[in-house]
Amino acid sequence: NETLFPYPLNYNQVDWSLHYPKKFGKDPLKLYLNTLEYPISYDDQVNPECSQSIVDFLDIGCGFGGLCFALSQNYPDKYTFGMEIRGKVVNFVGEKIRALRNEGEAHNVSVIRTNTMRHLPQYFRKNSLEKIFICFPDPHFKKKNYRRRIVNSGLLSEYAYLLKPNGRIYCITDVEELHNWHVQHLEKHRMFKRVQDVEEDSAAKLIWNSTEEGKKVERNKGSKFIIVCEKV
Ligand code: SAM
Repeated sequence: NETLFPYPLNYNQVDWSLHYPKKFGKDPLKLYLNTLEYPISYDDQVNPECSQSIVDFLDIGCGFGGLCFALSQNYPDKYTFGMEIRGKVVNFVGEKIRALRNEGEAHNVSVIRTNTMRHLPQYFRKNSLEKIFICFPDPHFKKKNYRRRIVNSGLLSEYAYLLKPNGRIYCITDVEELHNWHVQHLEKHRMFKRVQDVEEDSAAKLIWNSTEEGKKVERNKGSKFIIVCEKV
C-alpha cells in the first residue's frame, strides 16, 4: 500500500547520517528515502550523535525538489530537507541528489517519503527549524476536504512548536481562495506575526520561481500570492 510506510517512533530514531552522509564521513552515494526502492528501518540503535537536530530548512510537500536544490545552492551552510508523500517523486529527487553528489554537490540537501500531516514531530525537535516552506500546496476546494489542507490551526501550532524563536514560515499559492485561507489562519494564530517587508527576505525571493509548480504558473502567466510569518 502506497500510503503505508515506516516512520520513526520519535526523533531519537532518526539517523541524520543516512541523509547527510558526508558530514558524518559516510558513503554519500547511498540513498535512504523511505521508499520501497530505498527503504529505511527505524529502530532504537541510532548513535545519539547522529540523531541530534541538523535540519535548518524544511520543504513540506517538496514535489520534484526545485526549491530544495535552490536552497542547497544559495545557503551552502544550511541543511535543507524535503518531505514528500509520493514515493516515485521522492525517488526522482533522491536520484537527482545522488547524481549531484557524484559531482561533489548537494551534500546539504536530502529528501524523504512521509506524510507530513502525521509525522513531523517524530522527525524534528521543538525549536529546531529555522524555516518551513509550503509551496503551492493542494488546494482541496471542497469544504468537506478543508481538513486535508496542509495549513490549518492544529498544524500551524505544530509548525510553530518546531520552529526556532523568530523562525519563519512561507506559504505561496496561485489559488487566491487558498491564499485567503492561509492569511486568515496565520493572522489569527497567536504564535505567528506576519512579516511586512517580504522583499527584504532572500528566501522569499527564491520561492517565487524555484519550484516546479511555481515555474508552471509563471509559464501560464498566472498570479501568485505569498505570506511570510515569523514565530513570536
Ligand atoms: N512544492 C512543490 C512545488 O511547488 O512544485 C509541489 C507542489 S504539489 C501541487 C503539492 C505536493 O504536496 C505534491 O507533490 C503532493 O504529493 C505533496 N503532498 C500532499 N500532501 C502531503 C502530505 N501530507 N505529506 C507530504 N507531502 C504531501
